[in-house]
Amino acid sequence: MKIRRLSEELVSKIAAGEIIERPSSVAKELIENSIDAGATRITVRVGDPLYAEIFVSDDGCGMSREDALLSLERHSTSKLSGEEDLLAIRTLGFRGEALPSIAQVSKLLLSTRSKDSLSGTLIRCTAGKVEEVSETGMAPGTTVTVRDLFFNTPVRRRFLKSKSTEFRHVIRVMSSNALSFEKIHFVLKQNERELLNLPSAPRLFDRVVSLYGLQTAEQLVPVDSEKEGMRIQGYLGSAELSRTSSEHQLFFVNGRWIASATLIFALREAYAELLPRERYPLCMVLLSLAPDKVDVNIHPTKREVRFVDENLVRAFVRDTVREALRKTSRAILSDVMFPGASKLEVILQETPVGSEASLGYEPPNTQAFFSGETLFSYPGAPAELEGETALVALWQLHKAYVLAQIKGGLVIIDQHAAHERILYEEARKALSKGSSPTQQLLFPLMIDLTPEEFEILLDIEVYLRKLGFDMKASGRSRIMVRGIPAGLRAWQEGQLLRDIIDSTMKEAVESRSLEERLARSFACHAAVKAGDGLTLQEMNHLIDRLFGTSMPQGDPHGRPTFIRISLEELDRRFGRS
Ligand code: ADP
Ligand code: MG
Repeated sequence: MKIRRLSEELVSKIAAGEIIERPSSVAKELIENSIDAGATRITVRVGDPLYAEIFVSDDGCGMSREDALLSLERHSTSKLSGEEDLLAIRTLGFRGEALPSIAQVSKLLLSTRSKDSLSGTLIRCTAGKVEEVSETGMAPGTTVTVRDLFFNTPVRRRFLKSKSTEFRHVIRVMSSNALSFEKIHFVLKQNERELLNLPSAPRLFDRVVSLYGLQTAEQLVPVDSEKEGMRIQGYLGSAELSRTSSEHQLFFVNGRWIASATLIFALREAYAELLPRERYPLCMVLLSLAPDKVDVNIHPTKREVRFVDENLVRAFVRDTVREALRKTSRAILSDVMFPGASKLEVILQETPVGSEASLGYEPPNTQAFFSGETLFSYPGAPAELEGETALVALWQLHKAYVLAQIKGGLVIIDQHAAHERILYEEARKALSKGSSPTQQLLFPLMIDLTPEEFEILLDIEVYLRKLGFDMKASGRSRIMVRGIPAGLRAWQEGQLLRDIIDSTMKEAVESRSLEERLARSFACHAAVKAGDGLTLQEMNHLIDRLFGTSMPQGDPHGRPTFIRISLEELDRRFGRS
């Protein structure tokens, strides 16, 4: 590496501005320099308060005496030479502004030694003025110590954020760089207290484990996909792991931790109705693409980027994430069909009814809901589920949850949420495609509505027809229902229709389309409730259909439909590990 001063022309093309806004920016810039220097180990030590001392040490390539002196001058960098380089940036730094900017507002000590020199160089400088240059004995690498930050700009120091905010920011900077550079060993200390120690990780997953813990890491959905020279790697949180702030969404482009409205949007599209508006998936998305396909030179802190083809990137991220989320649900389905489960089923069936009841197991319900039909025997039900042999042992807990053994542990399904997801997707399909099967009532039912309800009914009648209702107006404010959606259970003699009308009225202020609102409301009111007993066959059918939907992890409101408990967690709680 050789440091050169950038030409005036090139300097004018660089997004200039304040780089060192706050103490954590110092840590960020110094860590980036160490990464660019090819370090395998980076140690950061900060004081309390942060501005008292920030120390960053690495075992990277180091600098010669000449380069060390140049590095403190403005617009001197080893990372850019010509203008073409600016269009294809491969390093985290490129402007040659960080070291001089930091030096300007602090008392800085730089010690550095390149691998091929026998001793190192020490430079001491105050407010940007070099006060001492000497030889020093040290291992190859670079150490920068920044003391008394903003000592000569008292106004800036006065406006510093609270101590803990700044410190949290340093932790974020370090952990996010640790994710994109998992091979580097990172250590963070405050004074002598060690806060992070992240040894070089063989795989990204190991780094995720050391940052988030095994329990969370295991629940994340991995992504790794390539297309047209772009690659996405990372981990995605399911609805079970959603958070209330987007802070837990980390995006990286070519290793750089960035903020990107485009990527936040792509993610939102991918999760779609899997998450409610105010919840955000935990995720880390690492995108790599040719350096000339992304412009980093648009903001002084380099946190923002622009993609040459924003739409292409957005679609790629959206589709990849969506596909990864779908694939996992299929994998969970095959887990549920775990062969050992059939043994459990035999045990269940041989146990006397009385003791089953105390375990919360519902004996098969022989009572018909509608002319002998069970909840899920609707046209098109997979035939193999009709035979007892294909049934998997499942438990119903407190008439609200269905428990199933899976390979790595246990899955608990919220029967209402799961059924809601199924009905919602079926309703959306019926509403957009035309119709769904109707089941004629033996005795048509007359329902009296208020004039307002009747008006709403007239508005939505065409949609209700598509859902499978067969109705006819019969005088002012009175309707005759002759048929209802096939397989429907919770019809409650017309209450379902009233509920749908009610919620259509209530939600009219929302921005969602009428069809969307109807599908949601239909699903919510027609789904089995907590308190409804389910037969073994119904539970099997429920799970089978749930995992056949496009987003089985969440109901249309974004609440999870199931949670998983791993064997590891059970072992831990029983003190077996
Ligand atoms: P930039 O990173 O944009 O090039 P900086 O002011 O951060 O600008 O650093 C100037 C130059 O100093 C870098 O281009 C690099 O050659 C050298 N340098 C800075 N930090 C280190 C380090 N930790 N190890 C080796 N070289 C470094
Ligand atoms: Mg730099």
